[in-house]
Amino acid sequence: MNQARTAIPPDAPAPITDLKGVGPKLADRLARIGVHTVQDLLFHLPLRYQDRTRVVPIGSLRPNQEAVVVGTVDHTEVVLRRKRMLLAYLSDGTGAILLRFFHFSRAQQEGLARGTRLLCFGEARTGAKGLEMVHPEYRRLAPDEDPAADEALTPIYPTTEGLHQIGLRKLSDQALEVIETLPDLLPEALVDRAGLPTLHEALRYVHRPPPDANVSQLLDGRHPAQQRLAFEELVAHNLSLTRMRARADRQPAPVIDDGEALVGQFQAALPFALTGAQRRVIDEIRHDLAAGHPMLRLVQGDVGSGKTVVAASACLFAVASGYQAAVMAPTEILAEQHYAAFRQWLEPLGIGVAWLSGKQKAAARRAMQEKVAGGDARVVVGTHALFQGEVAFHDLGLVVIDEQHRFGVHQRMALREKGANDGRHPHQLIMTATPIPRTLAMTAYADLDYSVIDELPPGRTPIKTVALADSRRDEVVARVAAACAQGRQAYWVCTLIEESEALQAQAAEDTYAQLAEALPQLAIDLVHGRMKPAEKEDVMQRFKAGEVDLLVATTVIEVGVDVPNASLMVIENAERLGLAQLHQLRGRVGRGTAESSCVLMYHPPLSQTARKRLQAMRETTDGFEIARIDLELRGPGEVLGTRQTGLMQFRIADLLRDQALLPRVQRTAERLLHDHPEHVDPLIRRWVGEAVQFGNVG
Ligand code: ADP
Ligand code: MG
Repeated sequence: MNQARTAIPPDAPAPITDLKGVGPKLADRLARIGVHTVQDLLFHLPLRYQDRTRVVPIGSLRPNQEAVVVGTVDHTEVVLRRKRMLLAYLSDGTGAILLRFFHFSRAQQEGLARGTRLLCFGEARTGAKGLEMVHPEYRRLAPDEDPAADEALTPIYPTTEGLHQIGLRKLSDQALEVIETLPDLLPEALVDRAGLPTLHEALRYVHRPPPDANVSQLLDGRHPAQQRLAFEELVAHNLSLTRMRARADRQPAPVIDDGEALVGQFQAALPFALTGAQRRVIDEIRHDLAAGHPMLRLVQGDVGSGKTVVAASACLFAVASGYQAAVMAPTEILAEQHYAAFRQWLEPLGIGVAWLSGKQKAAARRAMQEKVAGGDARVVVGTHALFQGEVAFHDLGLVVIDEQHRFGVHQRMALREKGANDGRHPHQLIMTATPIPRTLAMTAYADLDYSVIDELPPGRTPIKTVALADSRRDEVVARVAAACAQGRQAYWVCTLIEESEALQAQAAEDTYAQLAEALPQLAIDLVHGRMKPAEKEDVMQRFKAGEVDLLVATTVIEVGVDVPNASLMVIENAERLGLAQLHQLRGRVGRGTAESSCVLMYHPPLSQTARKRLQAMRETTDGFEIARIDLELRGPGEVLGTRQTGLMQFRIADLLRDQALLPRVQRTAERLLHDHPEHVDPLIRRWVGEAVQFGNVG
């Protein structure tokens, strides 16, 4: 093998201050965007391109289009609205557009006199009177001047305050001059690049696309030069996760090899038999726990597939082997509900359960903390408050993270560090109802083992879903009345786009008041995020006990809430929610044997994507199918929740667009690890950076 290795030049990247014009101040700014060396600058890739290669007729501009236009000023005026502003009306015979300036000088105003010819570049937006450009770049043209357009696409780089595109472009020009010093870590001799260009060709191309470049391919990120870089980036991420996992595998973990009897006792007391899939997954977990290194397992199971009993069984293995288990839920309501379920299941077995939440009163919290630190509580349920500040575990052996598809690799690693005890890392079980296709999962979660609960408990009746315009609200109210008259229970979910809990709570209160008036014969109650934990718990308990017919709620009930007798769900303004959220919400019904239905009320007109979402909801209740459609509609960044967490922030790759590369990425990463391990570090450093490797970020 040895002689097949290519020599990698000594790994001493040139400091960015080697470039002309880069002093300490500019170096600081560049450091803010992660650029420390001349190499880094070559991998600081354009986010997108501007097309200034052609002049677009004003009449054909579309909203949000960035374009060059050429026209004549018809009229200019200074108006005083809330602010003083300069308005210039530009037309070219095909249409007219308004140019709007909030900052302008007298000279500028005079330079835009009627009859002036201008070349402008900007983004067309929809204004009150048609399309407009706010602060476009522009230059005056002589009356007969031929407006020379740029020859090639203009790269736009990610940047930061005080660092301009032109400056960045000049710096990367300098870096491109020394591109030959950069080693190609995926040379054709080592990997099957399937005809993709060399590193140097690819970098030159994406930084400075030639005039004859295939513009649409480049704008879509599908050009072979971009694919070559995306491929390398995906390989680097895969290696980084694999290595993180290898490091975790070398750490000692509590050996958890007892508990068959206790788990058997727990399962025998349940009013149902476990499904085959539940048994299989519990077995996989049992096997991991006994191995002496930390379990890192992701369990995917659709809404209602019975993940909670799987979690409880895992906790019991830990408890029987002398360790504590912590169960973390993403919301207060879900944590409260898990607390209730775990007490009901575990206390009869003589196992103490504690509960920790951010909204708990200080005294109650302290009392619980003492039970946790002293070891009286063997299972601790809570929100992320579990892992904050002063919580000390006695002998933590297992962490279960429920419904955390929004959890990034950094948080996962950070949690492991926080739970570490005498150098031993707790086992980690992550459960999610957001299924993603297997190839994607293997890339995004390459550091995790993976189980699927691919079977729903028997006897579930399918949920009928309809979409109705909100003009038919009265019909929906009558339907709720009829269902409740038959002894069924219902949810009425109010949604708002606003993030503010206060506004959401207000909307729910208003709806509650209206429904209480329209349906005086029903017991109606309300739950939202602004209520005290005890109040919420009280309402949920009464709903669960059947004392409440109709529960008006915000999306706080989105995940995990489990009331099997509830069989009708109304979702207001369903067009505002994403598919994953709609699926989660709908999963609150169809949990018992009663026939269930879901009414998606929407406010017309529907956007095209909203229409597709509602259609998908009507056509299927299969979480995997919904996830697939969701992925198509939104792209994986949002589906995986990476946008919020910073997990897998790619510079050029896109998991959905580049899916076809994934099998080859996997093979290449494996090959490098085995045959050319000396390429691994430089690749990770180049694309992922140093921070991620230590897993204790954020
Ligand atoms: P999820 O996977 O969405 O977290 P839950 O754990 O909340 O699902 O389970 C949904 C419902 O199904 C609960 O009422 C639970 O008690 C019940 N359940 C779980 N497993 C089974 C089973 N094997 N047979 C019947 N009901 C089950
Ligand atoms: Mg659940």
